[in-house]
Amino acid sequence: MAYLIRNARLITAADDATGDLLIEGEQIAAVGRNLPERIGPQLRPEILDADGLWAMPGGIDVHTHLELYSWDTVSADDFYTGQVAALFGGTTAHIDFANQARGQTLREALDAWHARAEGKAIIDYGFHVSITDPTDAVLHEMGQLPAWGVSSVKLFLAYKGVYQLSDGDFFRVCRRAAELGLLPIVHAETGDVIDILVREAIAAGHTEPIWHARTRPPECEAEATHRAIRLAEMAGAPIYIVHLTQREALQAVAHAQQRGTRAFAETCIQYLYWTIDDLARPDFEGAKFVCSPPFRTRDDSAALWRGLADGTLAVVATDHCPFNFATQKTLGRERFDKIPNGVPAIEDRLLLLFSDGVMQERLTPSQFVALTATNPAKLFGLYPRKGALAPGSDADVVLWDPTVRHVRSARTHHMNVDYNLWEGVEVQGKPVKVFSRGRLLVDGDDFRGEPGTGRYLYRGRSAAFAASSR
Ligand SMILES: [Zn+2]
Repeated sequence: MAYLIRNARLITAADDATGDLLIEGEQIAAVGRNLPERIGPQLRPEILDADGLWAMPGGIDVHTHLELYSWDTVSADDFYTGQVAALFGGTTAHIDFANQARGQTLREALDAWHARAEGKAIIDYGFHVSITDPTDAVLHEMGQLPAWGVSSVKLFLAYKGVYQLSDGDFFRVCRRAAELGLLPIVHAETGDVIDILVREAIAAGHTEPIWHARTRPPECEAEATHRAIRLAEMAGAPIYIVHLTQREALQAVAHAQQRGTRAFAETCIQYLYWTIDDLARPDFEGAKFVCSPPFRTRDDSAALWRGLADGTLAVVATDHCPFNFATQKTLGRERFDKIPNGVPAIEDRLLLLFSDGVMQERLTPSQFVALTATNPAKLFGLYPRKGALAPGSDADVVLWDPTVRHVRSARTHHMNVDYNLWEGVEVQGKPVKVFSRGRLLVDGDDFRGEPGTGRYLYRGRSAAFAASSR
């Protein structure tokens, strides 16, 4: 198929101008003003009048957990339902996490996650590999990751006894990653302290959801963020902090950037909205807001918005990891530490960030594209194949109506979960057509995707390695 999109407001991380976009097959063939209908000996394109619409690179969500078995249950979206929801929210690619279990090889972990996506995926996806058991053999095996299309490794300073690495192991893995051109990405909270606080809270009979946040104080994130950055510096590696939530952690990243360290950070859309008070909602409703790190304060959210605007934060992701309120969050009704950690957001990310970021003039349209598509593509080795509107790039394109108002609700969202964090919230702007590799998969309310047509993304080296010190 070929499509000629006429008179769209074409928005990229660098430019914002009205023009045409020609899609031929899976790629963008041309971008410009008054494009002829044919560039080469191709099919006559279907003409789409995009007057009043914005055309942007499809969103890339670099932090998702589809079909994740954890907390004695499984996250509610699999690679089919989660990707349908992603598409309706304007996201056309994502990177999930293949978690190494203790004793497992990295290849075994990766194979297990490939099996989950196989036959289900609609859009393109990649994997970070989480290294939880860095034996000498595993450090050696890391050398295979680039050939397997993996250019980032996830490391944990939290979840003691499960995923958490010692400082020494963290340092060893970062040093090996630097050698191989792999970007270390880190969950930064002080696991040892959290472990003690959780046990003490339970022993004292504190079982309600609010204690999830009270036992993971902001100091833990500030401390571990600073420590992760310093350990990576000593290892000669760049570093990417996932789901950053609060002021002091943000300052640690800013300070690192000022002294020339290649430190990058993402926040997730939900941290711009919710606070610790939401975990105190009555009738166990607070459990809907349990995720790690926990929600903080209004001041922290305001700091994150500033960090997005001033460039300290490079990416807005989701950490999408949905659990049904009625049947899964209730596993922790008797004690907060059994509540499955995670929230649904894969469909909401662009909608909320556009409405409250771009429409409220906190972010320019180009910043919006940079944060949701272009920076993720660059940092995770997908640029300019993804995250760009340029000839030769994959035709992952969103046609967006910036005027339409609609209300977020679990009754109408596409995520396979029984609640929406933004239930009843009105937003402005939504995708009206979503293309993935040239295929029109979302057309208004219609969905045209076929399971099994999404492709695994062999990712190249992160631009974090090219970034010069400032
Ligand atoms: Zn996560």
